[in-house]
Amino acid sequence: MDCTGDCTGAAGEHSGIPGVTMQVGWPGLSRAITLSVVLTSAFWVALGAWLFHGHIAADHRGSAGAVTRDAGAPDGRSGLLDGLTGGAPGAAPTRPHVLAPVQVGRLAIPVVGVAAASLTDTFSQGRAQGARQHDAIDIMAGEGAPVLAASPGRVEKLFLSHDGGNTIYIRSPDRRLIYYYAHLAGYDPALREGMTVQVGQRLGTVGHTGNADPAAPHLHFAVWSADPSQGWSQQGTAINPYPLLTGRAAPK
Ligand SMILES: [Zn+2]
Repeated sequence: MDCTGDCTGAAGEHSGIPGVTMQVGWPGLSRAITLSVVLTSAFWVALGAWLFHGHIAADHRGSAGAVTRDAGAPDGRSGLLDGLTGGAPGAAPTRPHVLAPVQVGRLAIPVVGVAAASLTDTFSQGRAQGARQHDAIDIMAGEGAPVLAASPGRVEKLFLSHDGGNTIYIRSPDRRLIYYYAHLAGYDPALREGMTVQVGQRLGTVGHTGNADPAAPHLHFAVWSADPSQGWSQQGTAINPYPLLTGRAAPK
């Protein structure tokens, strides 16, 4: 930050205080000047913090959309590799990994390396010996494959569930949808409840936590309607993710 005329003025006032206090010997004036200096300093500290914060926010806005980008990499290609390998060892993930996901439908495919054509519609399949409908899609992938945000939103809950294992609940910006990711091996180190994610942002890795078969790691991905006034645990109707991910009607 450049120090302009005002800044120099503040420094001048500060350096003048001892002289003023000793020569005038007027405690009231001394206190007034001291208070003025303190307030002026506070103003510059606040301005500096605001400018810094604005810079970070602008950086994040710049990476919006399905753009291959990694905060630690100057170009998209190395950013993609960083994302696939989990970033440089030991590097503190201070900004999100954002990859370019496959997107042919309304939602991006939330697992790296999975083509839309390879997805199987498992929404209507039975689960728990037919006691309930699956109401989700299982995206088969290798253990450790990066899981990406299929759609933007806010991370409302990171929850360890008996059946779902490591799960993530992400609320759409209009709060009318909840995206649910389950059986993750682990979360991205930068992932936090309350944070906003963009399409393609790395959320974690595919695994088999919860009741998934260790021999068939996959991402269980569900979409629910939701009442905007309700919390993450109040889900409405399940929506079949298959047409949203593939742009095709669900097979009969
Ligand atoms: Zn499933």
